Amino acid sequence: MSRPTADPRHALALLSSGLTIAEVAKELGCSRDTVYRLVRESRAALDKYRAEREDVPNLEPTFPRGDYTPATTCNHDKQPIPIRSRWYCPICDRSGLDHLPFFQNARPLPKDPKPTPEKPTAKALTRRERRRLQFAQAEAARARRVERRLIQSMAARQERPGT
Ligand SMILES: [Zn+2]
Repeated sequence: MSRPTADPRHALALLSSGLTIAEVAKELGCSRDTVYRLVRESRAALDKYRAEREDVPNLEPTFPRGDYTPATTCNHDKQPIPIRSRWYCPICDRSGLDHLPFFQNARPLPKDPKPTPEKPTAKALTRRERRRLQFAQAEAARARRVERRLIQSMAARQERPGT
């Protein structure tokens, strides 16, 4: 019977969650020696990852006050982000560490695609529904005309003194 190869990270996660080596072995359906090997591999990979990450500085995002919308402007336009500071502006995608080689090749995240406007499906409507829609639109236009005339006549009455 061939078993799927166990994920080293899964083995380490199970061990970290408090299971014993024997319990992890039973859970993964492999031998205890295999669990030892998987955990060793996972720890080595984790150490390597941490060592690689050591020279990558963490940035502190600075969000402007108020709502964060596409119209939001930077809160640092009066003074630029000081060089060598860990501040990162998510609006203009700049930081005080942009001069470091690690950030030279960093590309901003791609923007969200524009939503495709949904066209009203006129063909999906039946003849009866189309006629109803036409009638409703004509009624709405008539109501707007009547309202406009009412407002005009009220304004004219107010302009005429003594009525
Ligand atoms: Zn900015």
